[in-house]
Amino acid sequence: MKCPSNIIENLTVCSHPLISNNLAILRNKNTSSEIFRTAVQKIAQILFYKATKNLPTDKIIIETPMMSTQAEIIAPDAEIIIAPILRAGLVFSDAALEILPQAKIHHIGLYRDEETLKPVPYYNNLPESFKSPEKTFIYLLDPMLATGGSALAAIKLFAEMNVPEKNITFVSLISSPEGIEKVRSKFKNINIVTASVDKGLNDVGYILPGLGDAGDRAFNTPKG
Ligand code: URA
Repeated sequence: MKCPSNIIENLTVCSHPLISNNLAILRNKNTSSEIFRTAVQKIAQILFYKATKNLPTDKIIIETPMMSTQAEIIAPDAEIIIAPILRAGLVFSDAALEILPQAKIHHIGLYRDEETLKPVPYYNNLPESFKSPEKTFIYLLDPMLATGGSALAAIKLFAEMNVPEKNITFVSLISSPEGIEKVRSKFKNINIVTASVDKGLNDVGYILPGLGDAGDRAFNTPKG
């Protein structure tokens, strides 16, 4: 799938008419949860094709019905981890699994304290270590890269397990300039793949113009 994009130092902003059309649906406050989830899936598929560009490949010989030929496959020894940050990251996982059915899913439980805006860890099911960190590829999922606090906390978990930064990709629907800056100030070589870099954050850490609370909108749990 071709996706024209702007790539600046590991930041890929994926632009495509299907993405902008579905982003318009997501941003519209009158969109129902059902339509919201469908639009997320459509954007997520395109983002994942882009995000997984860093997977290593091997060349093999296969037999077509006509003759032998060389083919390229994802390296069988690559360990692929999809890591949705709970709860909103879950809206991405189905699309990710459709494209990467061989992946392992490790959920990362971090919620944002609405007063301090800091991430509070409450769950993860990561192993103690990875057999070959340099062959481990992490796709962290969170629809909104806002303050960057949760992103940093999640990236840190994998960096501490010796996964090289270039093997870690943060996939988001919408990112704020502040969040991108914060992640890159600590982890310069992390890949970020996003559909939009918005104007900035409001004083309670929500992205403007953004789409509101991604988890609430996807799971039909409006506040108030
Ligand atoms: N989380 C959201 O769901 N939306 C934002 O705008 C920021 C963080």
